[in-house]
Amino acid sequence: MTVDAALLERLAAVVGPAGCVADAAAMEPYLTEERGLFRGRAAMVVRPATTAEVAEVVRLCAAYRVPLVPQGGNTGLVGGGIPFENGDEIVIALGRMNRIRGLDAANFTITAEAGCILADVQRAAADADRLFPLSLAAEGSCQIGGNIATNAGGVAVLRYGNMRELVLGLEVVLPDGQVWNGLGALRKDNTGYDLKQLFIGAEGTLGIVTAAVLKLFPKPADVQTALVGLADLDRVLELLARVRTASGDAVTAFELIPRIGLDLALRHVAGTADPLDAPHPWYALVELSSSSPAGGLRDILEGTLMAAIDDGVVADAVVAASLEQRSALWRLREVIPEAQKREGGSIKHDVAVPVSTVPAFIRAATADVEAALPGVRVVAFGHLGDGNIHFNLTQPPGADRAAFLGEWERANRIVHDRVAQLGGSISAEHGIGRLKRGELARYKSAVDLELMRKIKSAIDPAGIMNPGKIL
Ligand code: FAD
Ligand code: ZN
Repeated sequence: MTVDAALLERLAAVVGPAGCVADAAAMEPYLTEERGLFRGRAAMVVRPATTAEVAEVVRLCAAYRVPLVPQGGNTGLVGGGIPFENGDEIVIALGRMNRIRGLDAANFTITAEAGCILADVQRAAADADRLFPLSLAAEGSCQIGGNIATNAGGVAVLRYGNMRELVLGLEVVLPDGQVWNGLGALRKDNTGYDLKQLFIGAEGTLGIVTAAVLKLFPKPADVQTALVGLADLDRVLELLARVRTASGDAVTAFELIPRIGLDLALRHVAGTADPLDAPHPWYALVELSSSSPAGGLRDILEGTLMAAIDDGVVADAVVAASLEQRSALWRLREVIPEAQKREGGSIKHDVAVPVSTVPAFIRAATADVEAALPGVRVVAFGHLGDGNIHFNLTQPPGADRAAFLGEWERANRIVHDRVAQLGGSISAEHGIGRLKRGELARYKSAVDLELMRKIKSAIDPAGIMNPGKIL
């Protein structure tokens, strides 16, 4: 550890005893993620409570040229919020900045500090009869700042967009300690570069997000959910187009589940049951929602599915008749990663292709990996409505787990080459962090990479803001 003790003393003075974590055991939770892929060290963890404290921390670190690693709820899983192993970085954790600064129901906006837990922002919106639509499995612990830094998506992107579409304004502490106040609440603003977009999805490499103005929507009053069995993957696109059109584009979620995913859920997760009479090769979990209490979505959904069955687009379907049934259907989708874990080792891909290309991608990538890894079981599921598939590979039955996981990079190369060929993305949700830096360098064009490096060096010339992440 080479960090000047004087800096640590001054940092501790800025954030006070409640904001200073210097003890090795207390620092531990900030140094690794749940999957444990990376284990870092830090000279200190600071937990500032105000934007002014964040700015002072950054100014001091800039003066001493000591790198900073922003961290939110630490759910990212690609090492973006974890310091490197040499112990000369400061982790700046935003969890104490958790105030809702304001909610303007008439403007359909909420202003929240970066450390607000996502579920708390959802609740604050609901209390004001509004919806904050970002929703994902980590919502009980991930933070708004982390959601912004990773441009989080979730299960309602099809209708409401990613975080990028949900942010109207930002407050950011820049790498030199200046505070950029971009907390506008405007829906139209054509006054030059849209600076906030630079910080969204930047994974903390360009500055520290301290607060945001977020879009709200009318609260849904009518929500209808169906599990649809399909004989043929190609039909899924026709089903998506039909429900979007028939419902006046009220589809909020459209998730793909393969039969093997359902089988694994039924085998490994207690309390799950197949809601349809016969097995089908593919399923779509479809959810419609409307803020109008007289939405009539149930009739629309049932009518659309009935016609689709008559036309041979759909094999069978069930529409949830109660809240319990609705959550039972969602559970079948949500437990797939957990069920896969219990089945043995899995090699994961978090990829996106144009929606219209998903079936072709799944077919081609499946053939590729089955040829390379005989016996491998492809579990391709996820946000079909966004073209985002979790193309996960489960080890062959009885195979050696470690040997299978040893094929991780080879499998990644095969799948990502196919993704690239179809104009897709190698990271649709979790970002690049440390884990996918090599892949990014391989699949981005030289022009892409040069522009990214120029932006990085223009905003962070000293390279102190989360260095070694993304690029
Ligand atoms: P962290 O993990 O703490 O940090 C993530 C990155 O953001 C790091 O690079 C960090 O340096 C940076 N960062 C954090 N806070 C700030 C800040 N205030 N200013 C600047 N940089 C900052 N994603 C989806 O898109 N869709 C999903 O469906 C989805 N499902 C998930 C399910 C689970 C169970 C889990 C664990 C994750 C899932 N994710 C999903 C990923 C999720 O979006 C991210 O984990 C989350 O948004 C990160 O928030 P966090 O507060 O935990 O950030
Ligand atoms: Zn996902």
